Amino acid sequence: MSEKTCAACDYPLDGNAIKVTIGQRVVEVCCEECAQQLREAQSKAAG
Ligand SMILES: [Zn+2]
Repeated sequence: MSEKTCAACDYPLDGNAIKVTIGQRVVEVCCEECAQQLREAQSKAAG
């Protein structure tokens, strides 16, 4: 399986995936809402 899924909600990604940089990693999410969730989680984890 090479199909990617959203890093936040596991929804299958299509051509509209959004790339988000979390620390040193780049992940892909299905929508801006999920991107925001990951950024907030990261900023909390970083303090
Ligand atoms: Zn998502």
